[in-house]
Amino acid sequence: MMAHHPPHPVGGIPMNPGGGVGGVGSMLPTPTTGEGQGSVEMLQKALDAVKMLRCNVTAFFETIATGPKLESNSSTTTQEERERAFKSVFTVFMQRMVDNVKEMDANISGMTQPSPGPFNLGNSSFVNQEVAPERIPLYSQLVDSYKWMEKVHEYSGVASPILSQNSMKRTYYNTSLSAKRRRTLINNYVVAPEAVNSTINGIANSYNDMKIIITRPLGTNAALNITLGRTLTAVIVLKGWLIEWVVIRGVLEEMMKEDGTLDFWSESRYKVFQKVTDNANAAMLHFCAPTHPELSVKSFMTWLHSYITLFTQPCKKCGLHLNNNLPPTWRDLRSLEPYHEECKP
Ligand SMILES: [Zn+2]
Repeated sequence: MMAHHPPHPVGGIPMNPGGGVGGVGSMLPTPTTGEGQGSVEMLQKALDAVKMLRCNVTAFFETIATGPKLESNSSTTTQEERERAFKSVFTVFMQRMVDNVKEMDANISGMTQPSPGPFNLGNSSFVNQEVAPERIPLYSQLVDSYKWMEKVHEYSGVASPILSQNSMKRTYYNTSLSAKRRRTLINNYVVAPEAVNSTINGIANSYNDMKIIITRPLGTNAALNITLGRTLTAVIVLKGWLIEWVVIRGVLEEMMKEDGTLDFWSESRYKVFQKVTDNANAAMLHFCAPTHPELSVKSFMTWLHSYITLFTQPCKKCGLHLNNNLPPTWRDLRSLEPYHEECKP
């Protein structure tokens, strides 16, 4: 009867709202994979329905343009017969198109609400469910923070191998650290000033030739002004328990700035104390133990106290007091024995 045989619409689409994939149940948070697969399936069916609709519409217009083909010879058919044939073909096509549209509608309404953007935000997309989305820019903020996290991840991935080449690392990081231990690390920076005071005073009292003045010009963190006998003075800046800065100067050198505050930055004008400052900075890194912060300060102080004999004790190796016009400015980190810079073991 017809020149074109449009394919029959795919039937058998279950239309049971509430019980099917796209019913009320789909509003509840479901696992991402299952939800995605269901949506894709429904989308595929809806697209198939659209394809069928297009086929039928094309065939319909072609039929209208050419006129319905009749089985018998067209010359013998009457006008009335042609009109009747046209009407029946028209009705069939209209019915098919209406069916296609219905099927497509059913599939589209069955699809779950797609996430509003290309990022799958997981459960956090439900945070904003109770509020009108346009009132709170939560989604864009979440996307921004996700982008930042991506960047941080990327940069830290680059920085990590570079930093790990430095053996003098002061930050204690270990992937196997328990959460409890990591909390201890944070506490290194946040300690009660009283605890620092009592420990520092305890160290000072354990030596009768070491005077320590504690000031806090920078807030809660302590700055120590140490006078070691008549040998040297030292400025130590602590951050919590972490030793941040060490400068060694001569006893007669000015420790205060003109405005009466402790001078943190100026280096000694004597080469011997510049050398000791260098060694003290190395020792500060050596003794740094983020898991035992208090002990690291005590160890450093013990090491620093050994400089009380800077000008009186000869070098352990060569037995001389002076080498290159300098006394033994280096102290062994374990045995505290004095060595010249050139005589280091
Ligand atoms: Zn020596």
